Amino acid sequence: MSVSERTSQVHGSVLDAIGNTPVVRLQRLFRDHDVVAKLEFMNPGGSIKDRMVRYMLRYLPAGVEHVVESSSGNTGAALAMAAAVRGLRCDVTVPDRTSTEKIRRIEAYGAQVHMCASSLAEAHEHSYYSMAESIAAEHGAFHLDQYRSALNRQAHYTDTAPELWFQLDGRIDCFVCGIGSGGTISGIGRFLKERDRRITVIGVEPLHSSYREAVTGAAPDEDGTFGTVIEGVGKRAPSGTFDAAVVDDVIQVPDDVAVDFCHRLAREEGILAGGSSGCVAAGIARLLPRLSGRVVTVFPDSGANYLSKYF
Ligand code: PMP
Repeated sequence: MSVSERTSQVHGSVLDAIGNTPVVRLQRLFRDHDVVAKLEFMNPGGSIKDRMVRYMLRYLPAGVEHVVESSSGNTGAALAMAAAVRGLRCDVTVPDRTSTEKIRRIEAYGAQVHMCASSLAEAHEHSYYSMAESIAAEHGAFHLDQYRSALNRQAHYTDTAPELWFQLDGRIDCFVCGIGSGGTISGIGRFLKERDRRITVIGVEPLHSSYREAVTGAAPDEDGTFGTVIEGVGKRAPSGTFDAAVVDDVIQVPDDVAVDFCHRLAREEGILAGGSSGCVAAGIARLLPRLSGRVVTVFPDSGANYLSKYF
């Protein structure tokens, strides 16, 4: 088809350019296996969270012009981008382990960032969750609340999952996914299980995180407390949006192995992905001996967010 024969490719705004991200085979890292990754860092805001934010903003109450969210950075960037497009005021609370690149990105879109101590439990009044709640209450703003809202997993059920399914012609045997809020694995997991109950859904998280126990009932490790340098995955306690019913198993990966796989993705596949992508790739490497058929994953964000941290 010549350029002149094509229909218009002009998007109304950058929000309409979210989605249709490519799926790529990891042909050197997992040479003898069929492992494919959906490159969600190719969304305009730089991560899979663009989809969730676009979906949740459909529920923005009429007349409200101020949005607030707690975020490990990517939801903040997605929300700040959407707020810029729609002319909304935007506040984002982040844990203080968030990379400088991500904080600067949120600020570049014109949003205000509030840094909170990572060590505080969710219920603490100064945790990044509670701070988002109090800013929203004080200003009458819309709090997206990704960690508790069912809209988070619904976004992936109605948007990410069908897109992935059609891109792969439904050829999926196993879906392996990092877990942070749990929205991605819960939404995509439910969609896949409804299509074909034989599809295995496996979560990957850092050591001492809480989802393995929530899914398998395995006793928590006694030799350590939760704390990770990998952003976006792992939680002290499972979030409200997580749906354990669609997850078959969860495995845990040490931080150094996740970072090593991040380097390998860049050097062996030419894919500059973030730490959570390294974490899930490391999980796949461990799982492959017990999996058969096509293994599918998503890479949520880019290594460009962590150049000064992991690379
Ligand atoms: N990786 C990164 C880099 C993220 O920002 C997130 C979102 N917190 C995830 C993985 C996990 O996605 P979800 O919150 O849907 O579980």
